[in-house]
Amino acid sequence: MSNNPVRSIVIVGGGTAGWIAAAALSKLMPKSIRIKLVESEEIATVGVGEATIPQIQRLNGMLGLDENEFIRTTQASFKLGIEFVNWGRLGDRYMHTFGDPGINLANLHFHHYWLRARAEGSDASLWDYSLHAKVAYAGKFGRLDRVGNTSMTGLAYAFHFDAALYAAYLRKYAEAGGVTRIEGKIGRVNLDAETGFIASVSLERGDTIEGDLFIDCSGFRGLLIGEALGVSYHDWSKWLPCNRALAVACERTEPLLPYTRSTARSAGWQWRIPLQHRTGNGHVYSDGFIGDDEAARVLVDHLDGERIGEPRLLRFTTGRREAFWHKNCVAVGLSSGFLEPLESTSIHLIQSNISRLIELFPTRAFEPATIAEYNRRVGHEFELIRDFLILHYHQTARDDSEFWRYCAHMDVPESLKSKMELFRGNGLLHKDAEDLFRESSWMQVMIGQGLKPTGYHSMADRLSPEQLRLFLADVQRLIARAEGGLQGHAEFVEAYCKSDLQ
Ligand SMILES: Cc1cc2nc3c(=O)[nH]c(=O)nc-3n(C[C@H](O)[C@H](O)[C@H](O)COP(=O)(O)OP(=O)(O)OC[C@H]3O[C@@H](n4cnc5c(N)ncnc54)[C@H](O)[C@@H]3O)c2cc1C
Repeated sequence: MSNNPVRSIVIVGGGTAGWIAAAALSKLMPKSIRIKLVESEEIATVGVGEATIPQIQRLNGMLGLDENEFIRTTQASFKLGIEFVNWGRLGDRYMHTFGDPGINLANLHFHHYWLRARAEGSDASLWDYSLHAKVAYAGKFGRLDRVGNTSMTGLAYAFHFDAALYAAYLRKYAEAGGVTRIEGKIGRVNLDAETGFIASVSLERGDTIEGDLFIDCSGFRGLLIGEALGVSYHDWSKWLPCNRALAVACERTEPLLPYTRSTARSAGWQWRIPLQHRTGNGHVYSDGFIGDDEAARVLVDHLDGERIGEPRLLRFTTGRREAFWHKNCVAVGLSSGFLEPLESTSIHLIQSNISRLIELFPTRAFEPATIAEYNRRVGHEFELIRDFLILHYHQTARDDSEFWRYCAHMDVPESLKSKMELFRGNGLLHKDAEDLFRESSWMQVMIGQGLKPTGYHSMADRLSPEQLRLFLADVQRLIARAEGGLQGHAEFVEAYCKSDLQ
């Protein structure tokens, strides 16, 4: 039996996607497979991508990175969730945290008990029962797996980091693992005349690099998947109309918050990402509703520290490739599609696509069934995330600008409509194994955006009114005790993982 194994992989692009791919493949694949990464210093990386979700810990763990060293090296801070300001209505704020609010009791999600208490006159917010929100708003942090001896889970967290330092860190890791970096601008992609597979890429200076499997990490342009192989792009901007971002850093301000802030503006939203050495900011907007100059003014008027440099304009189209893997080319990162950065999902998609590729690793026969399965899974994950993002825009009572009126009244995918309908009734939540966002994420955003169910699950009525009162009071007591025992976020960073870079 001949296994006909892939002997060489060529990664095109050295942004976050290229170096995550190189690091993961060098760690997990046999050393007999040669891995080359081609990048050009003449073509800048996108240079943003500083907020993550907890799944990144799996990548770091698989690579065997020491977490404190990773934080020091990338000027990182901790992230417990995203605070959304002015989204459902002007003046509203809520947090999409990485943890479940309250404690699920008798297999029933906590929010049903909260909904029942509300129906009976309580005015406590869902986030009064959220450990993550309490800790985040108190500006604290700790590595806490569990709350005391209870079934309440501790703090799930991710990171904010400097994207350029992260890519450099992974580059060092991948090169130490045997990846060869080739500096040079690719001028031509050479296809096999018979099969249409990519045979090699040629640099402008003349060298030609051959490979069996090509990973396209060339950014938005999709040098291999789009330009050379002609795989089309599905444009989702009718549902996610933001198509530009202006990014600028400002000086760090105190306190060092352990969460991202996303503030809705008249034609989009503004991010605030606290790092150890600076704060990253950006205004994501739709050019159909606001001009670039006005968008820049909105951004710089709302910085909370001294601006560092000039805002940088980035253009994008939210959507996905028709196929993510075509022939012997797999697109990873921005070349595969882009879901705007509202929920910090792009770096996750890079890592999940690389792990799917490794799980479904082909032979040189590039089995069509393998490629079809990969495309099915990635496409499904893209669509689930797409729906989650649309929810933030569509479920709003804002009607103070053309942009928000458009979002509130647009026709959304049926898959999202049915999830909203299910929740609107008795607060029930859909489940899908491929969904990156768990039930608790959907629930927090639906409630935070103002989608309040009319009822709750009947099981919540098993508790007597007194039992319900005691249960809810216990949850609050546990949270207060756990929060009281934690350090300030800045003190935690200072004590365990302060960067010594300037
Ligand atoms: C406004 C904005 C905000 C974002 N915020 C977040 C966030 O908070 N969290 C998150 O997870 N993600 C975020 N992202 C996404 C994140 O930035 C990207 O997913 C990530 O940086 C990966 O980019 P990339 O490596 O695919 O592409 P790029 O960074 O564009 O890298 C492309 C690489 O290809 C190389 N290249 C291109 N053409 C050639 C050629 N002809 N020859 C040789 N080399 C070539 C370039 O030199 C470069 O190295 C954001 C994106 C945008 C636009």
